[in-house]
Amino acid sequence: MQNNQLVRLEEVSRVYAAGSAAQVRALDGISVGFEQGTFTAVMGPSGSGKSTLLQCAAGLDRPDAGQVVVDDVDLGPLTEKALTELRRDRIGFIFQAFNLLGALTAEQNVGLPLRLAGRRPDTAEVRAALARVGLGERAGHLPSQMSGGQQQRVAVARALITRPKVLFADEPTGALDSSSSRTVLKLLRTLVDDRGQTTVMVTHDPVAASYADRVLFLVDGRVADEMPEPTAQRVAERMARLESDREPDLEPAAEPVRIDGGR
Ligand code: ADP
Ligand code: MG
Repeated sequence: MQNNQLVRLEEVSRVYAAGSAAQVRALDGISVGFEQGTFTAVMGPSGSGKSTLLQCAAGLDRPDAGQVVVDDVDLGPLTEKALTELRRDRIGFIFQAFNLLGALTAEQNVGLPLRLAGRRPDTAEVRAALARVGLGERAGHLPSQMSGGQQQRVAVARALITRPKVLFADEPTGALDSSSSRTVLKLLRTLVDDRGQTTVMVTHDPVAASYADRVLFLVDGRVADEMPEPTAQRVAERMARLESDREPDLEPAAEPVRIDGGR
């Protein structure tokens, strides 16, 4: 694999409702790579294909054309069973909605991927994973007894318990207040810096994107631009230009000038 790319998409297209009048080309021949040990943010207008990109890269969805390679394995020819095993062993995924099981404690949620892989979770290993995300004292708590930020940190611990090669996160801070977001983003950054955890995160938030090493900007299922060493300010400016380039007809008409004080 060239340039140490842990994940590579080559000319990937994903077309929903292909052939019908409602056909949507969510990914349009996209080629992109994610290098080992790096943190990439994926941004773009709503509907630009960010979630579809993550799902295809993570083997949760299959492209209609092109190739996805993860850790030197071409996902295309894999059977569903082999794909499920590869996801279980090498890929972690976190979602905006946390997706914890409400009837299970933090500890049981974190141990779940090991159970699914046919292993009995080792208590010390699970506790260490919870301690790693700052929740060592919360092992016995249910999701309903934790804040959103704490639940998302449990989800991070769960995603990493199998030591996946790559962690995908689809708007992981989308449902969190800014203080909880910061805690989760710092955690993701620390995992990249300390453990070389290759991470790919979709976000709408320029501040969240600034925690990454690089930002990819998607428009209409393609990479429109990328930015190394992003700052929140430059990302916000780039996003504003992308949105205005894309929708020139949707500019609101200028407000008429009011001379009566506007009340
Ligand atoms: P984003 O995450 O950037 O908002 P998505 O990847 O979710 O974008 O969607 C890209 C495009 O594909 C959108 O036009 C969306 O409506 C469409 N799309 C996504 N999922 C489906 C689906 N399951 N069926 C039909 N169209 C879909
Ligand atoms: Mg999305």
